[in-house]
Amino acid sequence: MTELRRDVDAVVVGAGFAGLYAHHRLRRLGLTLQGFEAAADVGGTWWWNRYPGARCDVESMDYSYSFSPELEQEWTWTERYAPQPEILRYAEHVADRFDLRRDIRFETRVTAATWDEAAQRWQVETDRGDRVSARFLIMATGCLSAAKEPEIDGIGSFRGRTLHTGRWPHEGVDLTGQRVGVIGTGSSGIQSIPLIAQQAAHLTVFQRTPNFTMPAKHAPLDPEAVNARKARAQEIRKAMRESRAGVIVPVPEHSALEVDDQARRARFEQAWETGTLYGMVAAFNDLLIDRDANETAAEFVRARIRETVADPDLAERLSPRNHPFGTKRPCLDSGYYATYNRDNVTLVDVRSNPIVAITPTGVRTTTDEHDLDVIVFATGFDAMTGPLLGPDITGAGGMKLRDKWAAGPRTYLGIATAGFPNLFTVTGPGSPSVLVNMLVAIEQHVDWVAGCIAYLHEHDLASIDATVEAEDRWVDHVNDVASYTLFPQANSWYMGANVPGKPRVFMPYIGGLPRYTETIDGVAADGYRGFTLTPATAPEREPSASQT
Ligand code: FAD
Ligand code: NAP
Repeated sequence: MTELRRDVDAVVVGAGFAGLYAHHRLRRLGLTLQGFEAAADVGGTWWWNRYPGARCDVESMDYSYSFSPELEQEWTWTERYAPQPEILRYAEHVADRFDLRRDIRFETRVTAATWDEAAQRWQVETDRGDRVSARFLIMATGCLSAAKEPEIDGIGSFRGRTLHTGRWPHEGVDLTGQRVGVIGTGSSGIQSIPLIAQQAAHLTVFQRTPNFTMPAKHAPLDPEAVNARKARAQEIRKAMRESRAGVIVPVPEHSALEVDDQARRARFEQAWETGTLYGMVAAFNDLLIDRDANETAAEFVRARIRETVADPDLAERLSPRNHPFGTKRPCLDSGYYATYNRDNVTLVDVRSNPIVAITPTGVRTTTDEHDLDVIVFATGFDAMTGPLLGPDITGAGGMKLRDKWAAGPRTYLGIATAGFPNLFTVTGPGSPSVLVNMLVAIEQHVDWVAGCIAYLHEHDLASIDATVEAEDRWVDHVNDVASYTLFPQANSWYMGANVPGKPRVFMPYIGGLPRYTETIDGVAADGYRGFTLTPATAPEREPSASQT
């Protein structure tokens, strides 16, 4: 274990892609750092999520760092959508190449952080009893890192094995000959179900909400195409940063309702064949804002389900009807719907036949007992706010982040929250984060934080804190933009709807990367408009400039 530094410029919490890049970028500024990571090594998402079939759904060559042209040239992805082990190897390679582990304490969870007004510093505590004083606190804790088990009676009584996709055992799990139940049909369920079905003696899928999923058209990468892409890497990366979702997708010109049935179908077929997450969503310009337009895409997907699933009743039960297409994160799959044609797979619709309890021998629904050896919870995460509210964070004047966010997260630009000076949330709620290619969002946020810290240093400023007025305006803007879309109509984790009691707020910013980047860069260019800056030399540490 690395030696603990008790007094540093910055504590970085998390060692996924965000934390790793924060170490690299802040070290280049000359900052002293102490990192903490609950996992035993780097990788974040890709360290924890080792379930069968786990892979990215943004193409590997896009889902990777752009900050180092050398790294980009030397690393070669082998598959269109890299599997989890390959992405984890990439994270490990980045950590080795840039020597990023040396300041990180692994298997150590940050449990509390308290702002010391007089010292203008954070006091950070961990579950190992560490106490570290830091000027800056960088929460690189991820949006999807707080795995969530379902609230089902008797969950602890099961005598077989329970697993969560987001906490999958590192030694792997042999499901051969087992009776397996999977609860959940989000991306994790949809990726793992086809592979579990191939191994298990019998697979029972407990589905609460059918999801829209599209075939990934997954394939090994052609080395020539990889080389051609590398030759244009810088140009492509620039275009990605300037794109709406951090990936290059043609911008649609037409409404789905202004073309005839034949033209619409042809366009959807073309989009379907791309095997990409954003292809279908971007087939027309109004799919996410007009319910009738959206219904044309939804019905196109349902028709594909009917074509694939032999039993019409089963096809209907797999067909999403409760939420507009694209308003829960769509999924990419490899053989998901065809899996239901197998003799050893049963679908239980728990909306019409709810799970009553987990029993010592399996799952009991209103009408049936399902005897199982293994239950897989593919039940997702306490997304976006969960990892930030895990530690007990106390800001200026003793304000608790948990209290401040009791009715939903409030941030300025998704990167800061008023009353919590010098605390930065990488891809926090109120930023594009989970709606875009996250590697692009992460680099953009970390670069901004580094620029901000450099500015504070150059201007001899001790701290920076968002003003409540600027934050209120930003929160209103985030809500306004979301309300213009169909997203709030879905009970999604974007809305906090998967966690009982969690406030229903659309958490990410859906205005797109270019608008967001222009705004946040403009804030910096204007001397951090909307922030209060406190000079390092002020004896009473009175704010010198309150720029709203
Ligand atoms: P994470 O990778 O989640 O890392 C955060 C780390 O912080 C974790 O390791 C966690 O242990 C640690 N941590 C949290 N709290 C504490 C604490 N209190 N103390 C110490 N450590 C703490 N996004 C895409 O854009 N494209 C994809 O294809 C894609 N695929 C995904 C597949 C899966 C299965 C999942 C779950 C998510 C996927 N995502 C994808 C989203 C993914 O989370 C991000 O792309 C990215 O990996 C996030 O990196 P991060 O460093 O911000 O967070
Ligand atoms: P998720 O999308 O939240 O899906 C969880 C599933 O569990 C949903 O089907 C949910 O049903 C169900 N569920 C939750 N609680 C339940 C209960 N008590 N009873 C019955 N069903 C219950 O979680 P996820 O699949 O882990 O994915 C989360 C996010 O991680 C994705 O949206 C994506 O951003 C990312 N991810 C990406 C990939 C990839 O392809 N690269 C893979 C995995 C994850 P309801 O819909 O009714 O709530």
